[in-house]
Amino acid sequence: MSRTQTKKPAKTKKTIKSKKFVYAFGKTTDGNATMRELLGGKGANLAEMASIGLPVPPGFTISTEVCTYYYDHEQRYPAALRQRVADSIKSVEKQLDKKFGGRKNPLLVSVRSGARDSMPGMMDTILNLGLNDETVEGLADVSKNPQFAWDCYRRFIQMYGGVVMGVTARTEEEEDPFHVLLEKLKHKERAESDNDLSTENLQTLVTQYKALIRKRTRGAFPQDVMQQLWGAVSAVFGSWKNERAILYRQEYGIPAEWGTAVSVQAMVFGNAGDDSATGVAFTRDPANGEKVFYGEYLINAQGEDVVAGVRTPNAISKLAKEMPKSFKDLEKVRSKLEKHFKDMQDFEFTIEKKKLFILQTRNGKRTGLAAVRIAVEMQKERLMNVETALLKIPAESIDSLLVPVFDPKALKVATVIATGLPAGPGGATGRIAFTAAQAEMETRKGNRVVLCRTETSPDDLKGMLHSQGILTSRGGVSSHAALVARQLGKVCVCGASGMSINYEKKTLTAGKVVLREGDYISIDGSTGAIYKGMIESTDSEVKRVLDGGLKPTKSYTYELFQTVMKWADKHRTMNIRTNADTPTMAKQAVAFGAEGIGLCRTEHMFFEGDRIDYMRQMILAVDEVQRRTALKKLLPFQKKDFVGIFKAMNGRPVTIRLLDPPLHEFLPHDDVVRRQLAEKLGVPFDFVIDRIKSLHEENPMLGCRGCRLGIIYPEITEMQSRAIFEATAQVLKGKKKIKVKPEIMIPLVGFRAELADQLKIVHRVAKEVMKKHKIRINYIVGTMIEVPRAAITADEIAKEADFFSFGTNDLTQTALGLSRDDMGLFYDQYQSKEIYNKNPFASLDQHGVGKLIDFAVDRGRSTKPDLKLGICGEHAGDPASIDFCHRAGLDYVSCSPPRVPIARLAAAQAKLRNS
Ligand code: PEP
Ligand code: MG
Repeated sequence: MSRTQTKKPAKTKKTIKSKKFVYAFGKTTDGNATMRELLGGKGANLAEMASIGLPVPPGFTISTEVCTYYYDHEQRYPAALRQRVADSIKSVEKQLDKKFGGRKNPLLVSVRSGARDSMPGMMDTILNLGLNDETVEGLADVSKNPQFAWDCYRRFIQMYGGVVMGVTARTEEEEDPFHVLLEKLKHKERAESDNDLSTENLQTLVTQYKALIRKRTRGAFPQDVMQQLWGAVSAVFGSWKNERAILYRQEYGIPAEWGTAVSVQAMVFGNAGDDSATGVAFTRDPANGEKVFYGEYLINAQGEDVVAGVRTPNAISKLAKEMPKSFKDLEKVRSKLEKHFKDMQDFEFTIEKKKLFILQTRNGKRTGLAAVRIAVEMQKERLMNVETALLKIPAESIDSLLVPVFDPKALKVATVIATGLPAGPGGATGRIAFTAAQAEMETRKGNRVVLCRTETSPDDLKGMLHSQGILTSRGGVSSHAALVARQLGKVCVCGASGMSINYEKKTLTAGKVVLREGDYISIDGSTGAIYKGMIESTDSEVKRVLDGGLKPTKSYTYELFQTVMKWADKHRTMNIRTNADTPTMAKQAVAFGAEGIGLCRTEHMFFEGDRIDYMRQMILAVDEVQRRTALKKLLPFQKKDFVGIFKAMNGRPVTIRLLDPPLHEFLPHDDVVRRQLAEKLGVPFDFVIDRIKSLHEENPMLGCRGCRLGIIYPEITEMQSRAIFEATAQVLKGKKKIKVKPEIMIPLVGFRAELADQLKIVHRVAKEVMKKHKIRINYIVGTMIEVPRAAITADEIAKEADFFSFGTNDLTQTALGLSRDDMGLFYDQYQSKEIYNKNPFASLDQHGVGKLIDFAVDRGRSTKPDLKLGICGEHAGDPASIDFCHRAGLDYVSCSPPRVPIARLAAAQAKLRNS
């Protein structure tokens, strides 16, 4: 059976498994936390919280199956759904003694999205649904607070108008049109905050909002509450396919088939007066992982005000003074949530007239550093065991402990122009971009960018992905900017109220300093400081410890890193090697924990200094004699390089690949350099030109490269083998006893005979060198599996090979018939149509290429049960692909040096996940 594990393909015209469609939470609860697939993360956790007795307003969740049905049936719903929803509304009415659409004591609801994995801010939400010209009066009566009722109504129209009816800003520079009307009125009434508007003001605003909708849509804002509800439900399901949700799914490899659930929940009101509040809290600090109660709130406000960054909220600690009783209740909830969900939680709460309600909880998004710290500390606190802690850390997170930070010396002389809230640690320097489009354009030009916005919205996602860092002048640590930056691992400073941004003039002003689009700015996401100009970076603490420049005991970050790496090494069964072709790279990789070299690309060694001239001489040679003359000059260089690498690896295995690329890659493209080359070699310029022409190939990637080179020019293989064995002999005979066991790898083999041809040369040279030095060299010879024919005939090829290394860069290229250098023209379209879940050159196409690997593993081992197997394509540093390699039964993965720690962790996770 294939070991390939792939995501379920979309079902066509699906028949829904359960006809339930709708799951209640509240007095009776149908679901629980394990039902994320069906209820989405939000729906499942609401059910779980309701069942453990947390104060959750009642409601119901429409399942993800309905979403899939909706898209499979031209955006129609299953016939029975309407009745189920109507019954569920009745049940909520009964629990609260309120009436949906009723004049007397109206029930209002929120309608929210919730996918299996949370996608913060990517899909739509509607609050205060159920208000119309009549129920608003009812709400005013029952609350005895008309100002509050009309505030809810204007909020509802604003949200519904934007999300369901599409009345939004039409360009990136334009503000939200409802917000413009609100600000105009505030200005006219001299109101400092939204709460200063009177009932009459709010009624005027409602009239203006309705007129705006009529003007833009030629339709009226709906008064029928059921129509409102279905409009909102459809908008939420519709938002599963909006541009930013698609982009987000691509970034995180979430399949389109999953769909979103929709949770409908009775509203509670944080804007019911000064004894009411709303907020977002984290059970630990999501930026650095510290165990402190972290979050923020606004008095007399609704949830969206906090998240959207419209007003900069207060730190949660302040609530202890403002509402001591509610704060205590909140602390209890914090502890209960962590103990129950056994992970850092990000939860939304509302205090309505001093009574606390919890509206949602989810595992909090966190920075890489926080992920590591939280896992390590929660294990220490016995909230989880080592295995769970390891699985809780996204393998990529380790990278954030290794990335450069601002150089402390450079910081001392830098000018701080303002300070904001530190929301995503690290240092970022780049040119100012005020729009997502500008950020994208600059990065395409090769510039680094810091995206500077008043506040970000989900539409800025693309720009955020392109930026080094994100800076906002409004919004707190749970604002959209902070949330998304944390998850993307971007540096972020938010809510820097000391600076202002003018989109029209394209300026950023902080005190007397005015910066323009394209100027350099630097932000420190660990301290919140904003600096004018560029700031140099330096190595991270972990790297400094590994390089010997900092004592291990002086860095808590290093302690965290070491703890996780030790855990990982204990649990993983695959070896981790590295792709390195210089002693410096090799040393760095060993410091990161590499256990060997899985790919040393020898061609990289031919570019330095004089070598390239000899290489070119070899390529331009017209016969074997000339070629051998040039190769003789290259031999000492190669040998010296191998000696350096063997020494740096200090006894660890080293796989050396013989020459692979098409030869034209070594030749100059420019006539001036070609002329210089002719002079150096003492040949006519026309001769150089003619030789270059004769080497031209239409498809060099499928042409004379790989083992084909060694087959037509055996003297190349001979020289390289000699350099390897001579270097081995030198190191073996050296003063310091270092073991060397070279592994020679023949590239791009598709036929057994190709490998056999090259083996003969390697073995002959080995014998000659051993005889010459009177020593025994322990070596093995293997091949790369990087064309489909090699995978398909792996049983035959294994007869000649001691090992296989899957070259998944070429294997992807040849299996998909897709040039690894030329996918730019259609890649964006393929992504937006979700034909590729992920770039197949970055994350292994498990369903296709993976099958070839599975097949080759089975066939190879049927010939040689102990055949050593590894992977050395770029995929070897990608956690999802590493998981595949573990399942496929590979012995090792070989990735670039900086990714070695990520691979160590990912390999341990693969073992734990698949045990
Ligand atoms: C590969 O093809 O996966 C490989 C490692 O070789 P290269 O990238 O050098 O072609
Ligand atoms: Mg290759």
